[in-house]
Amino acid sequence: MGEQYSGIGATYDSMTGLMDRMTFFGDVNEYRKRRVQCHIVLVQLSRLMQVNRKYGITVGDQLIRDISMWLAELDEAYQVYRIANSRLMLLGPACSRQQAEACVNRIHSRFGENWQVACEGQEHTVLAKTYLIHLFLDPEDTENDLLDKMNFGITVLEKKGRDGMVFFDEEIKRDMEHQKYVLEEVRYAIDHKTFRMYYQPIYDCKEERFVSAESLIRLWDRQGTFISPGEFIPMAEEHGLIDQISWIVLEKVCRFLGAHPELELQTVSVNLTGQQVSDVTLIDRIETLLADCQLSGSRLRIEITERTVADDFEEVKKTMMRLQEKGIRFYLDDFGTGYSNLSSMFSLPFEVIKFDQSLVRMIDVSRNGRRTISLLAQLMHENDYRIVAEGIETAQQAQTVRETGVDRIQGFYYAKPLPEEELLQLL
Ligand code: C2E
Ligand code: MG
Ligand code: MG
Repeated sequence: MGEQYSGIGATYDSMTGLMDRMTFFGDVNEYRKRRVQCHIVLVQLSRLMQVNRKYGITVGDQLIRDISMWLAELDEAYQVYRIANSRLMLLGPACSRQQAEACVNRIHSRFGENWQVACEGQEHTVLAKTYLIHLFLDPEDTENDLLDKMNFGITVLEKKGRDGMVFFDEEIKRDMEHQKYVLEEVRYAIDHKTFRMYYQPIYDCKEERFVSAESLIRLWDRQGTFISPGEFIPMAEEHGLIDQISWIVLEKVCRFLGAHPELELQTVSVNLTGQQVSDVTLIDRIETLLADCQLSGSRLRIEITERTVADDFEEVKKTMMRLQEKGIRFYLDDFGTGYSNLSSMFSLPFEVIKFDQSLVRMIDVSRNGRRTISLLAQLMHENDYRIVAEGIETAQQAQTVRETGVDRIQGFYYAKPLPEEELLQLL
């Protein structure tokens, strides 16, 4: 094994006795300066909060000490640090991918077992969960690059919703580069207002015409390549950019509607996240915008998904009630994709439930699927909701879905999302 660089002026974490964050980055810097290879394993305790809640903070602290001790004794080739409350780091000399994997696997399998935590005369059996991120140090990486990589690895695992490990190889580097590129393009589009709005008309089965439309954001990068909202909207949510985007969207949609009072659509909907609907400033801001565009709130609809409502249920409910007073109504988007908590959903004032295309596609599969949609439609109608079926692409699907009793249909079969000029022409 190669040289180790710590010890020179090392500082320590008082709780575990491990070297601290400053020493970790100092040591990494030494490797970097000397252009000596090294590798790093991040052990991120992923459910410390739950442990603290269940057993108390003193047990949580003792667990961290026990884990620290175990890691410190794992292999003398590694230096161990605690760089944040639940973040432990191993720094080791150059090795092969196989050796690195062996080390990470050892840690992973230890965390498959319980920890016997002795605290204040009692022993607790605790299962601790971790995210493990492994990378070989790139000498070009700054401290921030390193943390970005670690955080990216953690998000990958968080999305899977379980503990596990990530090896920072070429594939994940490409994913991270791609995310960086998308976020740069999103930031550019925010600063230069280059997003465009498309509108997908929604067909009413009784009136046999288009009665409303959904606004859908569109982004082309500076080279003219299309980036799908399905890709950049979740990234924007994760990186605190969604609020700015939503205001651009709301403003564009309201200005468009204000400029075309002759437009033969009763309403146009915009997609917002629950987080925004729980924002206390939303009501005033929307009111100002509507006045500015000389537009009545009754032409505006807001679509939110269950997933984003759940985080802030009570706040969302309050804002929904107040916006209702201004004539604005709400659609529950993507129904059928989450695990629906029907009773809480029914306690929110939705006007329309949008059946997601994955649900609607059940009609293609079997008669049972068709029956399920019919029964759901019946249930919704009994609770005074109207239903929009999303993602209808063929005449056959349109025919069958109409027979299930849905009120409105949105799908490529009737109309694709269109730019403003084409929407005006179509109508
Ligand atoms: P969503 O709100 O459920 O929007 C419906 C999506 O289904 C749109 O995808 C639409 O183009 C697509 N779609 C409509 N009919 C069909 C069909 O017949 N077949 C198929 N295969 N797809 C159909 P899009 O525009 O790519 O948007 C994807 C998602 O991105 C949206 O799902 C929404 O969650 C989000 N999004 C789009 N625009 C915005 C926006 O302005 N703000 C926010 N916050 N999210 C947006
Ligand atoms: Mg929508
Ligand atoms: Mg939807």
